[in-house]
Amino acid sequence: MSILDRVGRTPLVELRNIAAGLKVPVLAKCEHLNPGGSVKDRIAVAIIQDAEQRGLLQRGATLIEATAGNTGTGLALVAAIRGYKLVCVMPEKMSHDKRTALTALGAQVIITPNRAPDHAENFQNVAARLAHENGWFLTDQFRNPANVLAHETTTGPEILEQTRGRVGAFVAGAGTGGTITGVARALKGASSAAQIVLADPMGSALAAWVHTGRPGADGAYAVEGIGASVPPQLLDRTLIDSAQSVSDEESFAMCRRLLREEGLLVGGSAGTAVVAALRIAASGLVSDPVVVLLPDSWDRYRSCAWMRAGGGPC
Ligand code: PMP
Repeated sequence: MSILDRVGRTPLVELRNIAAGLKVPVLAKCEHLNPGGSVKDRIAVAIIQDAEQRGLLQRGATLIEATAGNTGTGLALVAAIRGYKLVCVMPEKMSHDKRTALTALGAQVIITPNRAPDHAENFQNVAARLAHENGWFLTDQFRNPANVLAHETTTGPEILEQTRGRVGAFVAGAGTGGTITGVARALKGASSAAQIVLADPMGSALAAWVHTGRPGADGAYAVEGIGASVPPQLLDRTLIDSAQSVSDEESFAMCRRLLREEGLLVGGSAGTAVVAALRIAASGLVSDPVVVLLPDSWDRYRSCAWMRAGGGPC
């Protein structure tokens, strides 16, 4: 057994305090309890296994990824155990805790300015260019089908088993879109009538895109790892029933409530998802429990002002 065998099979816990008195229970899928502290451990294992099976990786190879930090941490665990080197390209928006952690895990960290997807200095473009120039293996979470498949074959079936198939709605944010697309496929594949709800930061273009087919105006927001100005390739709009826009203030206040009222040691994007989930649970539109996914752990945001008090970026 290695630590990689502990990836997945995370608990589903009821938000007994925060969601008390709502029309249906709200159940939280605790992805922050994965060994690397996030949902991304699942795709790190799946992407590397897939590449190894295809014969694309030799021991000692260098992996490179464009990451908000969590995929980098998951890949660092896999790289340690399977004998790879790792380079992570991260936008400067992401917390300092994430940089420190990735460096401590032995990864080389390259910070890029916050740039739109069509700009040469955008983190995804820099990762692709460096992979090409150096012959490194781009794990490519934004395009790799193994990302979606990891959720379709693990996260989704776990939720079905833990709820005995009773899911009124599934609520999650989207960075790559892997989580929500993969879980939606698993639920719909099992003939679940669950509503699939995207939790989107205000300032992201995705909520408008879900509702109209056209991306909304994009603006700045401080929540990390979710939302986009351009829809990510793996996010399948046809599977999403609706979207909820959530402000930074609401997300961060809810994150602090999850810490203090539920003992759930999670990051800011969990706050975004739970705000959206509570709206659905209060709406009376669903009669089965609402399942919400908590993507990552608080340990990567403890230097952020919003973690300590009210508001403020990292
Ligand atoms: N929350 C955080 C903190 C993340 O880092 C990510 C991934 N970037 C997500 C949520 C969204 O997950 P996905 O990429 O599967 O859409």
